[in-house]
This record gives sequence, structure tokens and C-alpha cells, in this order.
Amino acid sequence: MDKPAFLRLRGVVKTFGDFSALHSIDLDIEEGEFFTIVGPSGSGKSTLIRLLVGMDEITAGEIHLRDARIDQTPANLRPTCMVFQSLALFPHMSVGRNIEFPLKIRKEPPDRRRVRALELLDLLRLPRDFYNKRISQCSGGERQRVALARALAFDPEILFFDEPLSALDYRLRKTLEKELKDLHARTGKTFVYITHSLEEAMVMSDRIAIMKEGRFEQISVADEIYGAPNSRFVAEFMGEVNLLNVTASDGGKLQGQGLTVRDGVTQATLASGQQGLLMVRPEYVQFAQDASQYDYSLNGKILAEYALGSRVQYQIESADGQAITVEKLREERVADPENKIVTLGFNADRTHVIEDA
Ligand code: ADP
Ligand code: MG
Repeated sequence: MDKPAFLRLRGVVKTFGDFSALHSIDLDIEEGEFFTIVGPSGSGKSTLIRLLVGMDEITAGEIHLRDARIDQTPANLRPTCMVFQSLALFPHMSVGRNIEFPLKIRKEPPDRRRVRALELLDLLRLPRDFYNKRISQCSGGERQRVALARALAFDPEILFFDEPLSALDYRLRKTLEKELKDLHARTGKTFVYITHSLEEAMVMSDRIAIMKEGRFEQISVADEIYGAPNSRFVAEFMGEVNLLNVTASDGGKLQGQGLTVRDGVTQATLASGQQGLLMVRPEYVQFAQDASQYDYSLNGKILAEYALGSRVQYQIESADGQAITVEKLREERVADPENKIVTLGFNADRTHVIEDA
């Protein structure tokens, strides 16, 4: 028999009065995994973390960690679980005393505490002379690192993060995303991370769970969630996407409004007569000189061009009135795009078919 997962949730339900915040959640998280939960505001992400760390009680179900059932265990007796909160630092105390705080609670002697605090400064790539610096003298990014060092001083088996970077500016967020991923690799700990940012999830995670209204819509590795979402919700949540309504005919040829399909191109996902969505991400749609070179093509008109930094996005209206988004690298920009009539092409191996439109 397979070894049971490190952290297991079975039928976890949480209700507030007659409102169901979580509907029977089943989840397995492996030891050492970087597991990210993504979902819109109000979907139940924080509620789930609060149950996992013991800040709130489950309504029904079970939570197991290793060999133990922990859902009835009070928060302070779940030493394996630690929520990372940068705001909970003591501003009047030094960086060193903040990091040592968990060790002090455990009554470790001062010299041992200091050694560990300095190791954690190294691990977080903060200079050792920060040991005596006051929190109030640290920048936002430095505080985040100190808070992380302190969370690690508890030596938890699982670290939980509830949108720790959402209040930071873009540059710092990007830096800390990479540092967190790196820290995960260096510590080997299990990280459970919540965000509403798709990019953040994609950069850091081994697996991603997409949450909607108290349920998981899909749980998979980032590439699959992005490239093979199982619903319109997941496809749209994971960034810009084109979803064309199609119907399968005999032999798996997909037909949709305005779509020209190259002879012999079939996709087996849908049964004959079944409706679905043909998904193609904006970066896989080409401006075609010769439509016959592509499995799928359609005609349209460019309505607008938007600069996205290294890329450029085009908003196109197909001949049938469907909005299509195309992205190109800056050097592939279209000359005089406004109102230009274009043919768009893409190939079947760059698409994904979603059942049930
Ligand atoms: P997220 O973290 O995904 O934004 P939350 O888990 O905080 O969402 O909230 C999920 C839902 O549960 C929301 O509709 C929220 O209003 C509700 N909720 C959360 N905590 C409570 C509470 N203590 N009492 C009543 N409703 C709550
Ligand atoms: Mg939340």
C-alpha cells in the first residue's frame, strides 16, 4: 500500500451559521512540497488555513498529520504548524531578539539562541550585524525576511503563508517570490502558501490548487493548470485566455463560429455532437500570412494594441464578433494595427479542449 500523505484532509467542512465556507475538502499534501492555494477573495482560503493551524474549529471531517489526527488539537499544541505573519514582529525589539523569541519560549540558553539567530540571518541572506538592529530601522523587505527567520526559529514542519506579499510593491514582491522558492529548497520544509496572484503561484509552487466558493476546482502542477484547465473558471483564473465555443462532429472535428479547420485535424476529447470550449492562450495565436499553414484559423480586425512591457497585446474582434486576445513579443509588433484586417492561426497541439461549455 502507498504511504499515506504527510498532511491529509478528509471531508473537511466549515460553516458559519447557515453559510458554508468550505464544502467537504479532501486534500493530500506531501512532505517537503511547496503547495499553493489560489482563488478569488472570499473563496475560503484563509478559512482553510485557520482550520489547519487550529485558529478555528472544523465543523465536520478530519485532519491528519503523519500518524496523528490533529483537528481536535489546540493551536498551541500543533507545533508543526506556523503561520507566517510579518506584521507580528515586535517593533521595539532588535532583529536578534525577534528571531530568538520562539527559542526563548522554549527556554533555550542565550548563547544557543544567538548562534541559531545568526544562522537564520545567514539563511535569509541578511547581514549578521542586523542582529542588533531595531525592527523600526528595517525596510519592508528586511522585515519580511526577519519574520521568516523567526517563523523558521520555531522549527515547524509546515509553514503556512497567507498572502504575505500582497501589500508589497512589485519589485520587492518579485524578489521575495524567488527568495521564498529558494528558501523552500534550502530548508526542505513543507510550505502551504495562499495567494490570489496567479503569477506568484506559478513562480513558486510544486502544485497549485484552485479554489472557488469553498471547493477545489482543480489541483495539479502549474503547467497543467495553465495548459490543461478542467473548467472555464480555472482557464480564466490562470491568465488571459481565448475560449471558443465548439461542437464536435463525427470523427472529432471541432466546429465553431468562424473557425476554419484544416482537413484531417481532429481532437478526441469531445464525443460526437458534444459542445465544449477550444482553449488557446494569447501567446499561441499567430498573425497568419497563409491560413492553410495552421490547423485552425479565423478572420478578424484589430481593435486595440496594449503595451505590456516586454510583450504587446492585441484585442481582436473575429468576423463573428468574438473577442480574441493575441500576445506578441515587442519585436513582433504589427505595423499600423488600428482596424487592420487580419487572419489568425493556431495549431491543435497548442490548444486544449474543455468539456461542457
Ligand atoms: P479568502 O481568504 O479566500 O478571501 P475567507 O476564507 O476569508 O476567504 O472567507 C471565505 C468566506 O467565509 C467569506 O464569504 C467570508 O465572508 C466567510 N467568513 C470567513 N470567516 C467568517 C466568520 N468568522 N464568520 C462568518 N463568515 C466568515
Ligand atoms: Mg484570505
